[in-house]
Amino acid sequence: MVKVYTIASGKGGTGKTTVTANLGPMLAQYGKKTCILDADVGMANLGLILGLENLPVTLHEVLAGKARVRDAIYDGPFGVKIVPCGLSLQGFQQSNPDRLKDIMTDLVSEFDILILDAPAGISRDGVIPLTIADGVILVVNPEISSIVDSLKTKILTETVGGHIEGAIINRVAATGNDFNSAQMEKLLGVRVLGIIPEDPNIRRASAGRSPIVVKYPTSSASRAFKRLSADIAGIE
Ligand code: ADP
Ligand code: MG
Repeated sequence: MVKVYTIASGKGGTGKTTVTANLGPMLAQYGKKTCILDADVGMANLGLILGLENLPVTLHEVLAGKARVRDAIYDGPFGVKIVPCGLSLQGFQQSNPDRLKDIMTDLVSEFDILILDAPAGISRDGVIPLTIADGVILVVNPEISSIVDSLKTKILTETVGGHIEGAIINRVAATGNDFNSAQMEKLLGVRVLGIIPEDPNIRRASAGRSPIVVKYPTSSASRAFKRLSADIAGIE
């Protein structure tokens, strides 16, 4: 049975794309047929950090009704499949986010796990991914503004009939001064699925167009992404 996850936040820049770009390859490595899709159709950058640029067909063309989703699927690290989105404003303007649901229906028979990298905010293109997921995963930074915005996204998800799977706390300082897992669970009212530390190698890996789990596999964030992916894949 396919499982569809949407990676969401509320606030921009919390690490949604980074989480998507690392969970996808690791889940594939752990034997799950996985496809990651850039549903941030206005500010797409999943393809950018995975070295997929200047492509003839992306999710933009699919959402515009000009191409089939199977023509927008590209190969990524460890066998993950990627549906990137184009970068042009025109492509965004021609996209119809209402088509996303049908696109997912086309993919369910081919994959075990589908992951949607959602946009920040509460616009229509942001709300649709919340409604079509089996589980919404909130990416939250351990700071009050991110927590408040995530709470808003949690309420929005529940209002539109979506289901919150839990939260990933990203960019946690090694100093131990940040909110801990139990405090975050209490503040957010959701299960904490994993903790990803602040790790400068994440940015270095992106600059090299690679996820950190591929470029720096023993780095602290990579180890955290591997643990989290093993949990999601159901591996002990
Ligand atoms: P979003 O998709 O939520 O807007 P991104 O994944 O693009 O966020 O991340 C925003 C920025 O934060 C990027 O420059 C990324 O490299 C950096 N970043 C994300 N997670 C971490 C982390 N754990 N440690 C250090 N930098 C991070
Ligand atoms: Mg993003």
